[in-house]
Amino acid sequence: MKLQVNDTFLKELPADPIKENTRRQVSEACYSFVEPTKTEAPEIVHFSPEVAGFLGITEEDARSEEFLKVFTGNQNIENTSPYAMCYGGHQFGHWAGQLGDGRAINLGEIVHNDKQWAIQLKGAGATPYSRTADGLAVLRSSVREYLCSEAMYHLGVPTTRALSLSLSGDQVMRDVLYNGNPAYEKGAIVCRVSPSFLRFGSYEILSARKDYKTLKTLVDYTIKNFYSDFELNKEGYVQFFKAVSLKTLDMIIHWQRVGFVHGVMNTDNMSILGLTIDYGPYGWLEGYSKSWTPNTTDAEHKRYQFGQQGNIALWNLLKLANALYPLIEDAEPLEEILGDYKKLYAGKYLGMMKAKLGLELDDENDLKLIQDLETVLRKTETDMTIFFRNLSNVSKSLVVPGNDELSFLAEVKDAFYKPDELKGEVLFFWKDWMTRYIKRLEKETNSDTERKHVMDTINPKYVLRNYMAQVAIDAADKGDYSIVEELFNLLKKPYDEQSEAEKWFVKRPEWARTKVGCSILSCSS
Ligand code: AMP
Ligand code: MG
Repeated sequence: MKLQVNDTFLKELPADPIKENTRRQVSEACYSFVEPTKTEAPEIVHFSPEVAGFLGITEEDARSEEFLKVFTGNQNIENTSPYAMCYGGHQFGHWAGQLGDGRAINLGEIVHNDKQWAIQLKGAGATPYSRTADGLAVLRSSVREYLCSEAMYHLGVPTTRALSLSLSGDQVMRDVLYNGNPAYEKGAIVCRVSPSFLRFGSYEILSARKDYKTLKTLVDYTIKNFYSDFELNKEGYVQFFKAVSLKTLDMIIHWQRVGFVHGVMNTDNMSILGLTIDYGPYGWLEGYSKSWTPNTTDAEHKRYQFGQQGNIALWNLLKLANALYPLIEDAEPLEEILGDYKKLYAGKYLGMMKAKLGLELDDENDLKLIQDLETVLRKTETDMTIFFRNLSNVSKSLVVPGNDELSFLAEVKDAFYKPDELKGEVLFFWKDWMTRYIKRLEKETNSDTERKHVMDTINPKYVLRNYMAQVAIDAADKGDYSIVEELFNLLKKPYDEQSEAEKWFVKRPEWARTKVGCSILSCSS
């Protein structure tokens, strides 16, 4: 296995001079050198041939002893040194000070086919940033991150990628619901891959400490390596911020399109490249609900609920703007960009929802049609993925009856969790909405077949439903990785009809409604 190292991060940015692996505040530095903790009996559970290919790793290499050793932290990559990154962050609306890679260790940066990738192990042991925690990760959260980051990529959502999922061979103690019931679980390590793992918090920590020299070095590094259209001056920094805000907006619109709820949108979990990063207690909408969040830690305030993700991203961008301000010393252009975000968000959201409905032409009533759909989808629990996917089967020639017959909902009926509730006011709303939708479709010039074709590239058939990940985890915990493999392959083609996989195109089963891991997730991982 030959990996070509190109250590931009280590070469261009200042290191913490202390080499011991002790927990501490690290100042005037962007990272600390740290060795992964060696594991006794590691085992590769799964790897992605596609991501391996990015790094120049063949499938044969990926089955080698060397691959196992390197990607479980037992052997370093030649010509580079592992390190943990320093960052801070606003957690749930409050400045939390230094956080950093508490359980992520970067193995180095690899260049292959002119593309640069940072490689990071999550769960490979404590670092100077581990604070009071152990630096480890368990199998359940690692399966979730591994499967979901790859699934998101194939859905067309900007994301970090995953190379491999491994068992460390060690046991890790966790109190899943933070209710005084700790138990041992299998330890695991995910190898993540991304052009960069820099976060908003990487800049915030330097600004908070008034270390503007390192802040400038880091911003210049980021622009040179990832936003190279811009110059290294005040104007360039403003342009850089604008580009980050546009990428972030784009990512959130995709989340809303596919029904993804990140769950912990703290500024330390916001990638500077606008990638979905740090898959923790995330979840997928089942019943369409703007107020849903999977994260029990956020159950009271629901700060990170589905419908708020656009606003929270804006709040996070404001924190990034504050962090960059000392290099720009002019609030006006930054405020303008934040103001533009709001307007752009509204427009892009409308465009995205129209696309989900197969509406290409403009009509002044489209916004109202979409708002009313969002209302009616909540009147009785309606599965988001099934509803939008099957909506493409509705024909322009559909006739909505004057009586109480439900046949006009035949194409989307599988989306309703409680079909008994389709009566009275709920039915009245559905009839009204469907009548208006059909009328609106008549304005479109394309045929039913053409519209379906386009809609099916926007509304996925298969997403990683919360219970699906749990089914894979329960089997994996017993040493059976066949469902990890099955879902990994299924989710490579989320927009395709896969006749042998219809069993995954169903509503959440009732047993999963209240099961831990399926509907309730904590930050424990
Ligand atoms: P999160 O919100 O889960 O992304 O994590 C917030 C902070 O806690 C980050 O600095 C993580 O590195 C750190 N962290 C989370 N879990 C652990 C752990 N088991 N050991 C050490 N640090 C952790
Ligand atoms: Mg994080």
